[in-house]
Amino acid sequence: MTDTAQTPVIQLKDVNKHYGPLHVLKDINLTVDKGEVLVIIGPSGSGKSTLCRTINRLETIDSGQILIEGRPLPQEGKALAEVRAEIGMVFQSFNLFAHRTILDNVTMGPVEVLKTPKQQAQDEALVLLDRVGVKEQAAKVPAQLSGGQQQRVAIARSLAMHPKAMLFDEPTSALDPEMINEVLDVMVGLARDGMTMVVVTHEMGFARRVADRVVFMADGAIIEEGAPEEFFTHPKTKRAQEFLDSIK
Ligand code: ADP
Ligand code: MG
Repeated sequence: MTDTAQTPVIQLKDVNKHYGPLHVLKDINLTVDKGEVLVIIGPSGSGKSTLCRTINRLETIDSGQILIEGRPLPQEGKALAEVRAEIGMVFQSFNLFAHRTILDNVTMGPVEVLKTPKQQAQDEALVLLDRVGVKEQAAKVPAQLSGGQQQRVAIARSLAMHPKAMLFDEPTSALDPEMINEVLDVMVGLARDGMTMVVVTHEMGFARRVADRVVFMADGAIIEEGAPEEFFTHPKTKRAQEFLDSIK
């Protein structure tokens, strides 16, 4: 019998992927438990984005297994679309629909995919926009908002789908410095509310404060993982130490 309390929300088993000759993911084993916040750090080009993208099959894998709540990630079709809808993804670029209002951006998914009645979707969207601090911008289009505001809309849009987990791939790295904290604060709030999260970030303050576990990747492999305090103060590998020194 499956014990859902024990089944990881996301599990990768011996995952390998190549881009031609490049072995971009090497025997990746990873579990993310319900309510856990996993932070992935590592040098540019180490495979962090590719790893995130395999989790909802924006990238295929060559071997290994990806399980969502214990079930293999579907390969295609409606079943895949359903799993994708359950795993929110927030990218470095906000990817909002430029010609739709902020409110529309947040309601489109629920209306079209979840078949939520429009009025209900709008009511829920306004609650979410309020939660991320941009409710006043609901009638505007994305270009009228700052980068930080747009990224908070992108988070609200993901939340509107009632995701089981959220993936964040460097959500603040395209933002002006003064806008980084307003986005991180929203993410801290989500973590505190118990959202299951995978976060690729260079924001070490955030990682120290919020992560339950830190994973360090280099050259397509997980080199080290551990509790944030332990990892940041006593990294076990020279590779991680060098990386931490380089970003200080
Ligand atoms: P990170 O997010 O850690 O910076 P990525 O996952 O984006 O790393 O990239 C890992 C490696 O895979 C890099 O060497 C990158 O150039 C390469 N790569 C990423 N996407 C592709 C692609 N679509 N085709 C070929 N190579 C790719
Ligand atoms: Mg990346």
